[in-house]
Amino acid sequence: MEIAFYGAAQQVTGSKHVITLKSGKRILLDCGLFQGKGSQVDGLNRHFGFNPKDIDLFILSHAHIDHSGLIPKLVKEGYEGKIWCTPATRDLCEFMLLDSAHIQESDIKYINLALKERGKPLIKPIYTIEDAKACMSSFYTIPYNTVKQIDEDVWVEFTDAGHILGSAVVNLRIKDGMHYHRIAFTGDLGRYTNRIIRTPQDFPQCDFLIAESTYGNRLHPHPPKPKEKLLEVVRSTCIEKGGKLIIPAFSVGRTQEIVSVLNDLEFEGQMPPIKVFVDSPMAIDATEVMREHSDCFNEDMQRFMQKDPDPFGFSRLTYVRSVDESKALNDIKEPCIIISASGMIEGGRIKHHLINSIENKKNTILIVGYCSKSSVGGQLVNGAEEVSLFGKPYKVRADVRKINAFSAHGDYEEMIRTISCQDKQIMKKIFLVHGDPEVMEDYRATLLQRDFHNIYIPDYKQHFQI
Ligand SMILES: [Zn+2]
Repeated sequence: MEIAFYGAAQQVTGSKHVITLKSGKRILLDCGLFQGKGSQVDGLNRHFGFNPKDIDLFILSHAHIDHSGLIPKLVKEGYEGKIWCTPATRDLCEFMLLDSAHIQESDIKYINLALKERGKPLIKPIYTIEDAKACMSSFYTIPYNTVKQIDEDVWVEFTDAGHILGSAVVNLRIKDGMHYHRIAFTGDLGRYTNRIIRTPQDFPQCDFLIAESTYGNRLHPHPPKPKEKLLEVVRSTCIEKGGKLIIPAFSVGRTQEIVSVLNDLEFEGQMPPIKVFVDSPMAIDATEVMREHSDCFNEDMQRFMQKDPDPFGFSRLTYVRSVDESKALNDIKEPCIIISASGMIEGGRIKHHLINSIENKKNTILIVGYCSKSSVGGQLVNGAEEVSLFGKPYKVRADVRKINAFSAHGDYEEMIRTISCQDKQIMKKIFLVHGDPEVMEDYRATLLQRDFHNIYIPDYKQHFQI
């Protein structure tokens, strides 16, 4: 048997791993989009490095676009089999892939305008909205903790990875000639403090582990007290300064966590009487999917829902879908909270809210998740005095605050805690994926200190015989 890495190899996006059996049968784990800008990223997304027609089985760990975002292209280019994932992952993919296709199409229109002006040949999107709709009929679901034989030689079981709704560790048992191999792929691993979904679950013993390494050299602040911190920021901004609180947040997971904290404060009577707006169509879709999959919630959240059946709704909270309603938020003069995407302020409606609020010192911009250094969110966290929005400079007069408690990725202690369910002596090899190279080196060193062994950091397209 052989395993090859076609993405998330010494980087954090483009997750794609191919297992080839002695019989020639090929299993693809994840089919993620490489994210970022530039011709190199575009090239990686346009050429898989393998032929989709040669893939026999495809299994998806979770719905994030860096794990799922090239599925429409995979199906368009000839993958004819089923797409196996958990029920919640399927439902999240339904609107996330459409949104991704919409971004591809609108980006290409913009690029083609420039190419046309220069008399150069026009290019096509990597896939279209039609492609994204077409691939959905290939999705088949398996609930958590259920062993399913998906082929005469392959059995799969999803265990909860605790990262986002529906996220799974993919546990495979493969018959390869005379031998059976057990391979586990962590996908992305979550935290032990998520308010809504369950913590990462122990997973069955494997022989070979493909493990994510995003925060392989980082520890999250401990213990996080997001509710107290958020209440303090709400009070100081909206009551003491009489300003607006602007929260850039990822639509899937992060927004629902923030809303559930605010809902909690409202339920306890601690929330000041101010209006809250969630201004993101994708966050509205994600919230709907979360409501439908409350079976994936942790015990605390399920217990809370016996007292308050809707943890994502309260009387002063409004979900804003239409563009006109979104624009109307600019005219609100009284203190309020606006939660909008994207989390790093790289696109989406949040940029308009920033333009409207960043130059007024009464307001606060609250960063609640990871922001890359070059993003507007990253610049704000690093103390920028001026930022550029739609090509225009804006002075940063609003307060900038940060709450670190909402990451969807476990830190290295949390990742090690999750994979420590494995007997280290039985595991033959560990492959580290989904991390920056220097972070992976640090993570490998820590794992070696903790008696894990045979740890590899694959290169892009590197093959291993196992
Ligand atoms: Zn993820």
